[in-house]
Amino acid sequence: MKQFTVRTSAKVEMIDITERIRILLKESKIKSGVCHVFVPHTTAAVTINENADPDVPRDILMELAKIVPHNDNYRHVEGNSAAHIKASILGASETVFIENGELVLGTWQSIFFCEFDGPRSRQVIVMLTALPAPE
Ligand code: ZN
Repeated sequence: MKQFTVRTSAKVEMIDITERIRILLKESKIKSGVCHVFVPHTTAAVTINENADPDVPRDILMELAKIVPHNDNYRHVEGNSAAHIKASILGASETVFIENGELVLGTWQSIFFCEFDGPRSRQVIVMLTALPAPE
């Protein structure tokens, strides 16, 4: 199991962490297998989406804010219920296959760390599991 820190700088933001995971994959020397990315937080998430147009993450965050308003007579006294709900909508983990020593991602796909209650110092856990190469 490997782990790295993401220091977020805004209340809500999406940060492309694909290259940081690629570095861990290169170090592992795994050629074929599965990569699990897990965020051990209740107000942050991980998701895979478009990396080319920065308006895509911006639009995702804008629409999530409409679906889950910041104030809605929530009972959770900490005042960050919207962040908890957004984290559960996107989820705490993603799985990416590994082939020929590379992450199997579409041309426009990146892995994003999603902050919903920043700025904070966050952890990302990565499990790289080697599997026998297919025949
Ligand atoms: Zn809370």
